[in-house]
Amino acid sequence: MSVRTRVAPSPTGDPHVGTAYVALFNHVFARSRGGQFILRIEDTDQQRSSSASETAITEALRWAGLDWDEGPDVGGEFGPYRQSERLALYRRHADELVASGGAFPCFCPRERLDELRRRQQANRETPRYDGHCRNLDPAESRDRVVSGETHVVRLDVPETGVCQFSDEIRGAIEIPWQQVDMQILVKSDGFPTYHLAAVVDDHLMGITHILRGEEWLSSMPKHRLIYDRFGWSLPSHYHLPLLRNADGSKVSKRRNPTGLNYYRRIGYLPEALRNYLALMGWSMPDEREIFSTEEMTAAFDSDRLTTGGPVFDLAKLDWLNGQYIRSMATDEFMRRVADWAINRENLAALAPLVQQRTERLVDLLPQVDYLLGDRATLDEDDFAPLRLDADDCLRVLDHIGRRLDAQDAWDRDALQAAIRSLADAMDIPTRDFLAPLFVAVAGRTVALPLFDSMAYLGRDMVRSRLASALTALGGVSKKKAKRLERDYADLQIDET
Ligand code: GLU
Repeated sequence: MSVRTRVAPSPTGDPHVGTAYVALFNHVFARSRGGQFILRIEDTDQQRSSSASETAITEALRWAGLDWDEGPDVGGEFGPYRQSERLALYRRHADELVASGGAFPCFCPRERLDELRRRQQANRETPRYDGHCRNLDPAESRDRVVSGETHVVRLDVPETGVCQFSDEIRGAIEIPWQQVDMQILVKSDGFPTYHLAAVVDDHLMGITHILRGEEWLSSMPKHRLIYDRFGWSLPSHYHLPLLRNADGSKVSKRRNPTGLNYYRRIGYLPEALRNYLALMGWSMPDEREIFSTEEMTAAFDSDRLTTGGPVFDLAKLDWLNGQYIRSMATDEFMRRVADWAINRENLAALAPLVQQRTERLVDLLPQVDYLLGDRATLDEDDFAPLRLDADDCLRVLDHIGRRLDAQDAWDRDALQAAIRSLADAMDIPTRDFLAPLFVAVAGRTVALPLFDSMAYLGRDMVRSRLASALTALGGVSKKKAKRLERDYADLQIDET
């Protein structure tokens, strides 16, 4: 049987560097064995999924050089590859599980579930559904479903014993069934949850090897049950180590740039990024650090996958990127610079901002330095001349960051409306409010129009500039972050 792997991002936000990391390993694994690599879009969360996010993710993965053999945009014989187009399949499989007793309809109202969780937490038990609706008479529950009563479908999980499975990187693993919740497989809106949809799809799409983030390890018992109940064989699983900060915590957008578009905008080369991501979970047999994805594919041996928490270290990526840049032919280097930013498309976006402000062409460069390049490194003194003191600057920038994380539309007018209404809610005059944002975004108080600048830079770049401005202002400890989060919530900002 031919090897088939997949990456299955949920289109619920900006393309994440972790998706490229997982995609890389699935890509290399399939290619090293002459198999296929598939892109599946897991958009069963109706509220949070968007086609804009799907497009951004596919574009970013393409930029990263991780092309797929089958997927929503290229087709393939196992399609459709977007879960929202496969709902009838999940429904049919859920019905089958209910009919065979592997799952059951659950009618419990929210209040009962909340009460159950409160009791379990008070008794220091693992929160877990107690099986109440599993004990209903099957005929009665069928009637209630047929009469249209609101319900979910839950997986029936044993009360005792242990689930055994093996992870190809970690070996045999046992998890007591008592720790496994009776997972919801179909939500009350009729949409499947990830667990049902992913297992059904992995089976129907003929996926033979699943390489995914370590955070999914604890879902294995549920998945194993679903495979077993359908009588399907379990693909081989490899849970890759999570990307971590130096202190061992999982990389998060508040601490590290996690958006793939940040890496693209800053000017990391896709091949250097792939090399770097490869080092996060694997090593070459000769331990050399610089290698192409083709070399990795030729030498790939899954026994060399590691479990250790790799530290996501941007200084190392800088070094690696420099190695790639310096070893390039000049022509190639020029082509890359043009691909990166010095091109017509970027000029077209900048021209309307600068043309009317330019007397001599040379005046152009100091105007756009912070848009094409990095902005100046900041320290607290940069905020000293402003009317708000350092504490208020920090509060303002923190709240702007929170507001922008919830901001979908990223154009000048939408950004302006969002930020101005935040200034009103915080009751700070707009001019004073915008000054620290100017410094954070442009590195100075006099620059091209702020909201145009932010629109041009994009979400990932703005987020990373806000983060470094917060650091310059003394940083945000965990405790402070909690307080700021509360303060922000108290403002009751309308984020629509
Ligand atoms: N949709 C899941 C995610 O976003 C996929 C997990 C898996 O690979 O099974 O990470």
